[in-house]
Amino acid sequence: MTKIQELIQSGTHPALIAGPCAAESRKQLMDTALALKEIPGLIAFRTGIWKARSVPGDFAGAGDQGLAWLREVKEKTGLKLAVEIASPEHAERCLEAGIDILWIGARTVVNPFIVEEIAASLRDCNICVMIKNPLNPDRRLWAGGIERLQKAGLQNLAAVHRGFDAWSSHPYRNLPLWEIPLDLKREFPELPFICDPSHMGGKRELLHDISQKALDLGFDGLMIESHIDPGKALSDAPQQIAPAELKSMLSRLTVKKQQGESKNTRLEEYRTAIDEIDGQLLELLAKRLDIATRIGDLKKSLNMAPYQPERWESLLNARLDLASSLKLDPEFVKKIFEQLHMESIRMQGPHRFGNL
Ligand code: PEP
Ligand code: MN
Repeated sequence: MTKIQELIQSGTHPALIAGPCAAESRKQLMDTALALKEIPGLIAFRTGIWKARSVPGDFAGAGDQGLAWLREVKEKTGLKLAVEIASPEHAERCLEAGIDILWIGARTVVNPFIVEEIAASLRDCNICVMIKNPLNPDRRLWAGGIERLQKAGLQNLAAVHRGFDAWSSHPYRNLPLWEIPLDLKREFPELPFICDPSHMGGKRELLHDISQKALDLGFDGLMIESHIDPGKALSDAPQQIAPAELKSMLSRLTVKKQQGESKNTRLEEYRTAIDEIDGQLLELLAKRLDIATRIGDLKKSLNMAPYQPERWESLLNARLDLASSLKLDPEFVKKIFEQLHMESIRMQGPHRFGNL
């Protein structure tokens, strides 16, 4: 049975699991696998056989037929295979088909009932199972998924960080919130942590920087979606990358020697968290000002002045109450809201600017 920890440590390059988002055809799988085979560090070929889609009618994967194609890929390339499972039935079909690595996706990890059922169906099996983070930024739910599998006697586990669903996540598809996997890594020091920059970034242009960040933060490997012809991909086309481009992107990554956890690693982690929060603050600011502009248009059509003293007073008091419950200095918060208010008024009607 494939020991994920040994596979990860076997090469001199960062460990890589790559392959298409979904199995679409025998040729697409085979051509992609043959091209990826040449990439240093590749430890397994990934693909989705059953795809959970937000809306019915979108491509939902090739099903059992895809497993037969994968068998051929393995025969021809010798690559180890990784497939997503979302139920005990999927797990059983993958075991029958000789899949080496299973992973539980973000949409499944959110549901403890299903994780428990999958764990029970795999009891004492030493197949490798990777647990992605749940969609929502809940460290305990992710840890709980890992514990459920451990309690069922599974020891060949890894965690995959793919970012979290957040209302404000620009420029990412899923917000990294790196402090969550890094905390979890401290809780499960023996567990390899792999980063999935494809689902985190949502665009291939972001793959390099996210991968570099993951390596800098001590992640053990990368899981990246690659398609022989990304423009024609039936799912997640903007984030899939052609094998040749993937190879060149990886060659531009630098791997620093990790010397255990140092003060610098913590500093890097805190700075990363600040960068993310600042990004969210600015995105929220842009959204707030956009709504203020729309309010400006409405006020104009209602023949109202941009500055409405009662509204401003009640808004400021409510924000100061909230600030005090969050233990923030009221003077500091007041200054921020005064600036924000002035900017909203300026955008609603330049002639009122400064008339507060
Ligand atoms: C995937 O890796 O194909 C996938 C569906 O990812 P996630 O569960 O992270 O959305
Ligand atoms: Mn995908």
